[in-house]
Amino acid sequence: TYVIAAPCIDVLDRACVEECPVDCIYEGERSLYIQPDECVDCGACEPVCPVEAIFYEDDLPGEFAPFLADNARFFDQA
Ligand code: SF4
Repeated sequence: TYVIAAPCIDVLDRACVEECPVDCIYEGERSLYIQPDECVDCGACEPVCPVEAIFYEDDLPGEFAPFLADNARFFDQA
């Protein structure tokens, strides 16, 4: 799955939402989140993010590692 990390917080540009072919990017209060069970790993969202907040899970920089679990947790509670 792709993951949205810290740069999205309080930005929520939503360019990725327009690009996602399966509409799996959802809006939280302070960040957008990718539903990991729905993401088809197409990568379309990643280059359009103006703050470079989106990463493939295996390419998440170390400081953003917790965001993989944060994304999953958002949907567990939804
Ligand atoms: Fe949507 Fe593709 Fe991005 Fe997954 S990788 S969130 S399917 S645009």
